[in-house]
Amino acid sequence: MHDPMTMVWSVRLPIPSRVCRMTSLQRSSRRKGWSWPYVRVAGRELYFGHALIDVWHVEPGGRDAGEVCRYRDHWKHPGHWRLRYPMAHRLQRRLFTVCSWCSEPGSKGDSVNTGHGWDEDHSPAHWWQSERGLYHSACSSAQHAHQMCSCRTPSPNPAPGRHACTVCGLFLKYDGNPERDVYRLTKRLVLPGRRPSPEARDAIRTAWEEQRRSGRG
Ligand SMILES: [Zn+2]
Ligand SMILES: [Zn+2]
Ligand SMILES: [Zn+2]
Repeated sequence: MHDPMTMVWSVRLPIPSRVCRMTSLQRSSRRKGWSWPYVRVAGRELYFGHALIDVWHVEPGGRDAGEVCRYRDHWKHPGHWRLRYPMAHRLQRRLFTVCSWCSEPGSKGDSVNTGHGWDEDHSPAHWWQSERGLYHSACSSAQHAHQMCSCRTPSPNPAPGRHACTVCGLFLKYDGNPERDVYRLTKRLVLPGRRPSPEARDAIRTAWEEQRRSGRG
């Protein structure tokens, strides 16, 4: 696999994030003691997952590890290190990140972690600010619906490459947005920048299910 990053070392909290009974297979294996961040003691395996600092060696130019850098031992080469702070990052997200649609923070079971592109950069300009471009999952679909044409009679722009409806100016796919009715319902139930109510969420989910059943979306 193409990967310019190799883990050099990691500073972990000395508190295990998982403790489980060793399986008989593990017990019979010769490996004793510990291979960090796993520690085996008294028939149990402890895993230390709370990373304070991760140090990665990054091969220059996005090349695969070992292709460019002449250092075999990456820990001897701080010039290519990149430091990451996973726990601080999680805390930062918990404290400051709000949804880009409704501006509310996440809650248990409804976190703000839906992005719209796989390679988007969400990092904020300053650590006390919110990450950008992240949504509650229901807010993400509301935001999407508000960008789509939901005209009863859409009018495609004849110019090539212009996937916009000439009536409303919003996005219109080649297939003429067969989900238009669901988008219209979503726009009616969820106003711009508002968090969808539980009732609205249920109604929208039902509408999507019907849309899929009818085989048009
Ligand atoms: Zn290097
Ligand atoms: Zn939201
Ligand atoms: Zn339209």
